[in-house]
Amino acid sequence: MGKPTGFKEIPREIPEDNAPLERLKNWNEFHRPMPEAKLQEQGARCMDCGIPFCHDGRLLAGMASGCPINNLIPEWNDLVYRGLWREALGRLHKTNNFPEFTGRVCPAPCEGSCVLGINAPPVTIKNIECSIIEKGFDEGWVTPESPPVRTGKKVAVVGSGPAGLSAAAQLNKAGHSVTVFERADRLGGLLMYGIPNPKLDKKVVERRVGLLTQEGVKFITNTEVGKNYSAEKLLKEFDAAVLCGGATKPRDLAIPGRELQGVHFAMEFLHHNTKSILDGRPSEKFVSAKDKHVIVIGGGDTGTDCVATSMRHGCRSMVQLEILPKPPVDRAPDNPWPQWPKVYKLDYGQEEAAAVFGADPRWYLVTAKRFVGDDKGRVKAIEIVTIEWQKDAQGRFTPKEVPGSEKTLPADLVLLAMGFLGPEDTLLKGLGIERDERSNVKAEYGRYATSAQGVFTAGDMRRGQSLVVWAIHEGRGAARAVDEYLMGRSDLP
Ligand SMILES: Cc1cc2nc3c(=O)[nH]c(=O)nc-3n(C[C@H](O)[C@H](O)[C@H](O)COP(=O)(O)OP(=O)(O)OC[C@H]3O[C@@H](n4cnc5c(N)ncnc54)[C@H](O)[C@@H]3O)c2cc1C
Ligand code: SF4
Repeated sequence: MGKPTGFKEIPREIPEDNAPLERLKNWNEFHRPMPEAKLQEQGARCMDCGIPFCHDGRLLAGMASGCPINNLIPEWNDLVYRGLWREALGRLHKTNNFPEFTGRVCPAPCEGSCVLGINAPPVTIKNIECSIIEKGFDEGWVTPESPPVRTGKKVAVVGSGPAGLSAAAQLNKAGHSVTVFERADRLGGLLMYGIPNPKLDKKVVERRVGLLTQEGVKFITNTEVGKNYSAEKLLKEFDAAVLCGGATKPRDLAIPGRELQGVHFAMEFLHHNTKSILDGRPSEKFVSAKDKHVIVIGGGDTGTDCVATSMRHGCRSMVQLEILPKPPVDRAPDNPWPQWPKVYKLDYGQEEAAAVFGADPRWYLVTAKRFVGDDKGRVKAIEIVTIEWQKDAQGRFTPKEVPGSEKTLPADLVLLAMGFLGPEDTLLKGLGIERDERSNVKAEYGRYATSAQGVFTAGDMRRGQSLVVWAIHEGRGAARAVDEYLMGRSDLP
C-alpha cells in the first residue's frame, strides 16, 4: 500500500505527452518522463484495498482483468512512495522480464480493475512501472546476470518477439544454452517491426536484446526455420524447442478491386516504414502515404498505428473505418468493474489526425463494398456502406447493410488492418504440429507442449494475436514447462 489517505488527497496525474502537432514532425517517443516526487505521490494513491484485483490477470468476459503476468503492483507502488526505487525494481523483475516494453505499450488491464477505479480515477500503474525500470537503467542497476552453472542442455527458440525473448531469458536463467532463430533482419518480433517507434523506441528493444546477449543467449537473424534452416535439423540439434512465431497471417478483404495497386496489408506498410527509418533509407517495399488520401480499414491497435504512421508521412486526408459501433464514454451496465473497460478513447493516432484534420478519423458502423481503380490499375476510390448489427435466426449478431447508405470516398492508399488469422504454415507443416480449431498451435494453456515430442509453443502462435503482456506471460510459462521436461523439475516461477 502507499499512504493510507493518499487516494483521498492526491488526484490522478500522468505526464503530459508532446503535443500532437509537435510530435508529428518526428518518429521519437512522445511520452514525457514525470519528476520523481510526482511519481512518489502517485504511488501514494495505492490504497491498501485488501484484495488487489490489479495483479490478478484472469479472464472476465473474454478479456484480461488485472495484470496477466501478476505484477506485484501494490508492493512496488508502496516502495516507490517510500523512495525505495531499487527494491521496487527487484519486485518488478520478479514477475516481468521486460517492464520497459509493457510500461510503454500495455493497454493496462491492471488500471481497469484497480479498486480505486470503482469510484475514482485509478492508480497510474503503467506509468509507475515504466518509471521504475527506466530509473533502474539510468542508475546502472540493470546489469546482465548470467547463470552460475550450465546444464549442458540446448534449447532452440523460434521467433524473437516478446514470447520468444521471455522464454529465452528464463531458460537461460535456468542454465540451458539458448539459441533464438529470427527470420527478420532485426530482433524483437512485433516489438521491432509492428509497434511504431513513437510508441516504443527501437533502441529500447535493442538495449534488452543486448543484455540477453551478454547473459549468454545466442541470436541468429535472417534465418527462417522450416525454410532456410530445416525443421529436422532443429529437432536433431536441440534437446527441446519453443515455437514463438506469432500469428502473422493477415485477414484479407475479398471485395471487388482488392487486386488494385495501393491496397496493402497494414503490416507491409508498418514493417517497411520502421525498417526504412532504422536503415536510414527507404526499403525496397517502402510505401509512402505522403499527399495521399488514406483509408485505414480496421479500428484496432494496428489500424491506429497505420493512422499515426500515415500522419507522419504527411497524408492528404485520413479516414479509419470501423465495423463496430462507437463505444460508450463510460462503462456500459453489462461491462462493470473489474472487467476491462470497453469505453471510447482517443488513441495517439486519432489524436494526431484530429489535430491536423479537425476530427477523430474513425467512422463507425461502416464497411467497404469495393475499391475503384483508375486506368493504370491503381486504387482511386472506395465505396463504403453503413451497416446495422441484427440478430440472425441463431441469435447471433450479424452485420446488415443499410439500403441506400452507400458513399464513395477518394482513396490513393488503403491499409487493411482487420486482424490476423493465426500462424503461418511452413514451420508447423515441417514439424507436423497439430493445430486447434482456430488454426493456432494446439497446446494446453499452462503446459505449452505441442503434439511433437520436446516441442513447446507460446505467445500469439498458441493463443492468436493478443498482447505483449500475454506473450511475456506465456514465454515464461513455456520456459518452466521446458525446464521441467529437460530436468524433471523446475525452480523457474
Ligand atoms: C501493428 C501492431 C501493433 C500492436 N500494438 C500493441 C500494443 O500497443 N500493445 C500490446 O500489448 N500489443 C500490441 N500488439 C500485439 C503484440 O505485438 C503481439 O501480441 C505480440 O508481439 C506477440 O508476441 P509473440 O512473441 O507471440 O509474436 P511476434 O511478436 O509476432 O513475434 C514472432 C516472431 O517470430 C518470427 N518468426 C515467425 N516464423 C518464424 C520462423 N519460421 N523462423 C524464424 N522466425 C520466425 C517473426 O518474424 C517474428 O519476429 C500489436 C500488434 C500489431 C500487429
Ligand atoms: S504489465 Fe500491463 S497489466 Fe501488468 S502492471 Fe504493467 S501495465 Fe498493468
